[in-house]
Amino acid sequence: MAVPAPLELAAVTKRYGATVAVDAIDLKIPAGTYCCLLGPSGCGKSSTLRMIAGHESVSEGDIVLGAANVTDLPPAQRGTAMMFQSYALFPHLSVLDNVAFPLKMRGIDKAARYAKAQDLLALVAMDRYAARLPAQLSGGQQQRVALARALITEPQILLLDEPLSALDPFLRVRMRAELKRLQRELGITFIHVTHGQEEALALADLMVLMNGGKIEQQGRPRDVFNAPRTEFVARFMGGHNVIRTPGGALGVRTDHLRLTPLDGAERLARVTEVEYQGAWVHVSLTGEDGGDLIALLPEAVFDAAPVTSGDRVGVGWDPAAAQPLA
Ligand code: ADP
Ligand code: MG
Repeated sequence: MAVPAPLELAAVTKRYGATVAVDAIDLKIPAGTYCCLLGPSGCGKSSTLRMIAGHESVSEGDIVLGAANVTDLPPAQRGTAMMFQSYALFPHLSVLDNVAFPLKMRGIDKAARYAKAQDLLALVAMDRYAARLPAQLSGGQQQRVALARALITEPQILLLDEPLSALDPFLRVRMRAELKRLQRELGITFIHVTHGQEEALALADLMVLMNGGKIEQQGRPRDVFNAPRTEFVARFMGGHNVIRTPGGALGVRTDHLRLTPLDGAERLARVTEVEYQGAWVHVSLTGEDGGDLIALLPEAVFDAAPVTSGDRVGVGWDPAAAQPLA
């Protein structure tokens, strides 16, 4: 495989007519990073990925891969490869021919491209299926073949647009572990677009959360989850209460909210629902100031002072666990 290189986006903008899909984003992705682009539908994730791939022109700004400004290079000359949302395998070609196809386009002779395709199929544990047609494979198997095909050109960066969204939940979790393993083994950068925060938390070395064409926050998943900077991030990541105070809004993780006696409580609230979730008990509350809150309590903590729907309770949190939100 090629030597991995860092990627830099400098003030990259994408306009479609009057729509600003990507708004002057700056992003540095070190070599060998698993990067997840995360955010709600329409925030500009796919446009960003397609500009990196060269499948979409850049309206303004620069894309630099290693020492090369690739902003205006065609897709095949940038050192990137893209795996599409639909795997887009050629239905009439065998698995082996599908994987070898990009090398055929580059004029590599048959023996060499088949040997390489076999190696890639082995990498994704699909070498036994080389002679099959795509229709004779499960969804997860087709995805592995599509991965092998994207990797056969030895890209420095593999781009994946919602690669797991077509899979059932069980397979999604298994394929996610396989993507991570592959990325580690190859040592190249993966840029993976998803709207699922759980997927991004599980996979990313670098998580980039987008909103309205801008980067809202980026960093290691733990840092973003534990220190959301804005109300949008706290709400989008989930697992947080957004609590209004005279000084502004605070983010408090649902598992950091405590139920307290009424006397001397920081806040008063009424329990609206109690849901047993196994290791956790999920308590929904309405604050007396009107805001909805969630307390996720370990089973033993709940059992020590159980509450039920309709109860008035105090609500508190460790100030150190509260994040000021912009
Ligand atoms: P995401 O992948 O995060 O859902 P996209 O990058 O696909 O977001 O889209 C960002 C914005 O750009 C959306 O408002 C979308 O409607 C618009 N958009 C995307 N592609 C096109 C296009 N080819 N022509 C016009 N508008 C587009
Ligand atoms: Mg998209």
